[in-house]
Amino acid sequence: MSEFALIDAIHARCRTQRHDVVTGIGDDAAVLACPEGRRLVACTDTLVDGVHFPRGTAAEDIGWKSLAVNLSDLAAMGADPAWALLALTLPAADMEFVERFTGGFAELARQHGVDLVGGDLTQGPLSITVTALGFVTSGAALTRAGARAGDAVFVTGTLGDAAAGLHWLRNHAVSTGARGTTITADAPAALLQRLRRPTPRLVAGRALGGIASACIDLSDGLLADLGHVADASGVGIEVDAAALPASPALRVHCNDEERLSCQASGGDDYELAFTVPPDRIDAVVSKLIDVGCAATRIGRVAGNSGVRLCDAAGGTIEPPSRGWEHFR
Ligand code: ADP
Ligand code: MG
Repeated sequence: MSEFALIDAIHARCRTQRHDVVTGIGDDAAVLACPEGRRLVACTDTLVDGVHFPRGTAAEDIGWKSLAVNLSDLAAMGADPAWALLALTLPAADMEFVERFTGGFAELARQHGVDLVGGDLTQGPLSITVTALGFVTSGAALTRAGARAGDAVFVTGTLGDAAAGLHWLRNHAVSTGARGTTITADAPAALLQRLRRPTPRLVAGRALGGIASACIDLSDGLLADLGHVADASGVGIEVDAAALPASPALRVHCNDEERLSCQASGGDDYELAFTVPPDRIDAVVSKLIDVGCAATRIGRVAGNSGVRLCDAAGGTIEPPSRGWEHFR
């Protein structure tokens, strides 16, 4: 199996749809037409086998997730996604893996009108680097730096499902070798789905552009990621533990302590956390209702630094991550 047969297989599943791709896959580099008056937004993320997804994850799900984590970064900037590049490192020229991987990648790409315009193929331990490119109206990018004292803190969707799914896998899945993992019948399907196929919140990110004061996507865990907003903005953030949104599946599969740990410190949520000035809260809530994205108010910008997890009386709860390092 040659490198070029694999590239052809990728290309066949990712045909160019967009009119702004002047030259796509097949030349030395892609040539892309940028819309006037907009800024290019660029990000890249690498997924390593056994680190960013459990060994044995289905190829389709790895393909989906490698694009999803990048689109999530674009969402956090309030950007419209346009193009992606894919650098694949494979242990062997495995056509079946490439076809299935590209199927999952292309499924998500199509949903968001993203064209794959180039990439690279090399041999080595399985690792995937995707670069995503998109646009934002000049001056309207959401950053981590705009949170101000008195702003409300919100999060989209629900938290903790992916971390709980990963925890379950580590305790229950019977590994049968490098690429094969047997899942038992009582697997928490909803939690595992969130781990394998995160939903990048592009629609919400676009709706928040020009309204939210700061925004970040949640990849490393709520408290850790809000810490980046606090640092970049030069503020403190208080999070109400009781306000953190949980899915029905998380409530079924976790006790209270596990649930809070997954919600506050678990990774891989790919929800957006954002801050909103008090006079714009109504506008944000109605915009998110318009686009069909649930969001929950979870705290406030207060104090000078750091992130504090609060109980109902306003007291500090010790962040639960310490006992759950195996999520990392
Ligand atoms: P070069 O040796 O000039 O870098 P390559 O043989 O690596 O060219 O790539 C040939 C063409 O195929 C290029 O347009 C490149 O962008 C594209 N390509 C290579 N690998 C991938 C991939 N994994 N996904 C998408 N396009 C790819
Ligand atoms: Mg190359």
